[in-house]
Amino acid sequence: LSRERQANIRARQAFLSGRARPLEFRLQQLHALMKMIKERESDIATALKQDLNRSQYDTPLLELTGLENDIKMAINKLAVWAAPRPVERSVLTLRDQVYVQPQPLGVVLIIGAWNYPWALTLGPLIGAIAAGNAAVVKPSELSECSSLLLRALLPRYLDKDLYPVVPGGVSETQELLRQRWEHIFYTGSSSVGRLVMEAAAAHLTPVTLELGGKSPCYVHPDCNIRVAARRITWGKFVNCGQTCIAPDYVLCDPSVQNQLIECIRLTLLEFYGADPKSSPDYGRIINQRHFNRIMSLMEGYTPVIGGQSDASQRYIAPTVLRDVPPQSRLMQEEIFGPVLPLVAVSDIDDAIRFINEREKPLALYVFCTDQKGIDKMLEETSSGGILINDVLMHYTLNSLPFGGVGQSGMGRYHGKHSFDQLSHHRSCLVRSLTMESVHLSRHVAPHFHLGRH
Ligand code: NAD
Repeated sequence: LSRERQANIRARQAFLSGRARPLEFRLQQLHALMKMIKERESDIATALKQDLNRSQYDTPLLELTGLENDIKMAINKLAVWAAPRPVERSVLTLRDQVYVQPQPLGVVLIIGAWNYPWALTLGPLIGAIAAGNAAVVKPSELSECSSLLLRALLPRYLDKDLYPVVPGGVSETQELLRQRWEHIFYTGSSSVGRLVMEAAAAHLTPVTLELGGKSPCYVHPDCNIRVAARRITWGKFVNCGQTCIAPDYVLCDPSVQNQLIECIRLTLLEFYGADPKSSPDYGRIINQRHFNRIMSLMEGYTPVIGGQSDASQRYIAPTVLRDVPPQSRLMQEEIFGPVLPLVAVSDIDDAIRFINEREKPLALYVFCTDQKGIDKMLEETSSGGILINDVLMHYTLNSLPFGGVGQSGMGRYHGKHSFDQLSHHRSCLVRSLTMESVHLSRHVAPHFHLGRH
């Protein structure tokens, strides 16, 4: 038996033992996961430093705080979430119990991406535990140190049969995908997302696909460009641009470009100093393949900011390109690196047209103070999430469902949404066997009960 098959069997047997179901057990596992994150924070930060040269400030903010908040919320709310949810009765069921009962699905497969290797594996795992499932976790092979550490840590804190970690790359993932699961929770690229859904179809397994794509950012001329530039610069270049909801490109009026470029330049100086390469807060590209991919996207352009690189360190400077043609390759695929193209649009209608001509993005960012403009963007576009006057921050609110639409994914998670996503919402109708004379009348005079008399 392959290691992947064994993990599937082990998790299934553990699930069938029934021990994942009691709320006390789920709470205990959630507390243990919280303990792991708190006790091992510095080990996690070291692993991220090795994988991505992640800044010590970004690890808590972007990776761990969200997980801690999700765990806290699940612990506080679990009893309410897992309780039967009464629904309206009809004339025919006036005396009955009618409710929706969330129940565990079974064994969930979680496949993570490398850019936030902890948040993207443990985030779904919190939902899986809270909902009473077993889960096999497959971290990305590209964030090697984080994956090794996760594999070493998780069994020390959690039930190791219910939540095994299976490392591996493409062939291991393919073997995992041949197994039968009750749900597959996948985070990564749209192309692999398609393969996941195809494999899931063989077993009629439902999927959550947290994918990517190009998230646009529109800057209206009326806004405070200095503040907008500061926020965009943070969201674009944090984790060296390798963030699924990073603003991929900026749409703005040509008159705004110069000021925007100047403000981004100043902000970069403030964040990373004159030489970002020597800043402890500026990341690196995950591997050589991605380094080459990003470099090739920049070919033929003269950057207005940055452009320097060092293959030996997989370093690419924070780079800004202006007047990028909408048809260029740079504007066809997700950049997923520290390169920010500015694309000229004539006004807000032009920006909306530009956005709507393309695939629905995971995130849409709008910097604008004019309420009419904001309303127009809210009403006339679609995206997984929309954020006005900032970037990335919607991810941190676990009351908001996080997920894509169209090509940016399906399904949602964070907070209660994770619990719901990984639960079956069972319809329950509990009647009594008494009062048959009343019940009998439905056969005699169904119209009476349907309220048509
Ligand atoms: P990826 O699709 O290459 O890899 C993700 C996972 O799939 C890895 O665990 C990998 O082992 C596995 N995999 C890769 N190729 C496979 C194949 N042929 N068959 C089966 N499994 C395979 O994605 P990535 O490069 O790790 O991540 C980058 C993408 O993920 C970007 O598009 C980004 O926007 C997206 N992303 C989305 C979110 C989100 O929350 N929506 C978060 C992070 C990243």
